[in-house]
Amino acid sequence: MITIAIDGHSSCGKSTMAKDLARSIGYIYIDSGAMYRCCTLYALDNGLIAPDGTIDTATLEQRMPEIHVSFSLNAATGRPDTYLNGECVEERIRTMEVSSHVSPIAALPFVRAAMTAQQQQMGRQGGIVMDGRDIGTAVFPDAELKIFVTASDEIRAQRRYDELQSKGQHPDFNEVLENLRERDRIDSTRAVAPLRQAEDAVVLDNSHLTIAQQNQWLLDRYHECIERHS
Ligand code: C5P
Repeated sequence: MITIAIDGHSSCGKSTMAKDLARSIGYIYIDSGAMYRCCTLYALDNGLIAPDGTIDTATLEQRMPEIHVSFSLNAATGRPDTYLNGECVEERIRTMEVSSHVSPIAALPFVRAAMTAQQQQMGRQGGIVMDGRDIGTAVFPDAELKIFVTASDEIRAQRRYDELQSKGQHPDFNEVLENLRERDRIDSTRAVAPLRQAEDAVVLDNSHLTIAQQNQWLLDRYHECIERHS
């Protein structure tokens, strides 16, 4: 069993393709972004982010051992739900409020160190599909298959907007667009494990692909990779 790392820009459909691939080849799927979103929700719930966005980093660092993230398969959706300290937070971590604070939290070196260690532990036996920003560069630099996904800003914003609407939220399109540009900016320029394409990653621009087409593309890369390693 191999390790599959899927990195790329915000809202470009990484998690959809990663989940579908994991399901069709019987691998475990891990959403590393959900883990950073949980740290952010924890900080918001505990008053560690001031209204102006300032983070109480000293307290958050002290409390990192209290943040336990886990995933459990939801039988109804067939997809994993995210749990923070035993509570299902799958919906709460996907709000605009969490999206607008997550990148500064994910840029903190002590947050990255804690999450990276957990991710490496989860994937230590292979047989895993993990999506994020630094999976092929920092978490699993030796992953056998690395994919870097992107799509145009407007298409990505439209996808995120549609997703939020389908969950009963009523976001402003421009706010969604600005949020993903800002997250990409912070994610790409941070000092520790910035978002960047690994040298040995295969690039996919899925701006004009359907979900079925991108799933087939990914499955083809997987089969090629398995052949190379057999
Ligand atoms: O993937 P998702 O958009 O849910 O990730 C939320 C945020 O978590 C990203 O914008 C990024 O700031 C952070 N993240 C990260 N490293 C990862 C995955 C996500 O810094 N491996």
